[in-house]
Amino acid sequence: MMTPAPRDDTLELIGNTRLVLLQGPSEAAGCQIFGKCEFENPGASVKDRAALGIIRAAEASGELKPGGTIVEGTAGNTGIGIALVANALGYKTIIVMPDNQSKEKMDTLRALGAELVTVPPTKFANPGHFVHTSRRLAEETEGAIWANQFDNIANRKAHIEGTAEELWEQLEGKIDGFTCAAGTGGTIAGVGMGLKAHDETVQIALTDPHGAALYSYFAEGELKSEGSSVAEGIGQGRITANLEGAPIDTQFRISDEEGLEWVARLLREEGLCLGLSSGINVAGAVALGKHLVAEGRENPRIATILCDTGFRYLSTLYNPEWLAEKDLPVFDWLKS
Ligand code: PMP
Repeated sequence: MMTPAPRDDTLELIGNTRLVLLQGPSEAAGCQIFGKCEFENPGASVKDRAALGIIRAAEASGELKPGGTIVEGTAGNTGIGIALVANALGYKTIIVMPDNQSKEKMDTLRALGAELVTVPPTKFANPGHFVHTSRRLAEETEGAIWANQFDNIANRKAHIEGTAEELWEQLEGKIDGFTCAAGTGGTIAGVGMGLKAHDETVQIALTDPHGAALYSYFAEGELKSEGSSVAEGIGQGRITANLEGAPIDTQFRISDEEGLEWVARLLREEGLCLGLSSGINVAGAVALGKHLVAEGRENPRIATILCDTGFRYLSTLYNPEWLAEKDLPVFDWLKS
């Protein structure tokens, strides 16, 4: 095994995450399921990649000047990535976040030195929505740029050039399918485009949580949602610029209960502590694996994203009272 060479600066620690064969999911699907360990990034989530890509693009276009400020609306992980990259490059960070996200993410953002603004969760059409609030704040702040992760395609470019290339290399070009859920859509669209550029026959599946509108969009051509989800960072109701032209071949809708079951199994059986979007992704990967096996592909190899660490959700997913409040099952080992 090659030990990675020393890096010249901390920003080079973003990306080049390891890939792991997941035993339980592979067995359940009857094929190989691999997880990309995005919790290995310095900000402990997949969003470090988008943060770096967006900031580098704003520097290259001349929009972001030395000592400037980056403003963003985020469920948390993008803010954490932006705050770290901004610290490393000498920028300031202002983050706008809905106030129903995990306390760990809010505490982390403050600890990293970001200025945090919280707003009540609302529909996207409401001008008070965290995305619109962040845009207004950027307009009102001298020397500030708006990162605009949903519609800034520097986000998906980071996955076309980074995540997809890494997966192709790590699996030595032997990959049959990829799936993950969408928040901004940067990951699914970017990895999908990057892998298809290597091999058109790689199947790209969107895994959607309940309460999001993309499953019905790709299945029936209509943006329509059903039910709800407590998963943070995923669940989209519109076609963002990052999602435009995403090469989606098929789609799955996964419940929080199914996602939580994989979170529990991966922790207890394989020693991986993850957030709910990772559990939902793994459930989607198992569904895609079964689908490709049923279609007659021999020993398909599927990859998905392990988006962030479960340590970020101790007050929610790993807290029996919180789960009971949401009518969700409590992990067996936490039952008193
Ligand atoms: N999982 C988590 C925990 C996230 O924070 C995000 C980012 N919003 C995603 C998944 C989805 O990634 P993307 O924005 O690239 O669709």
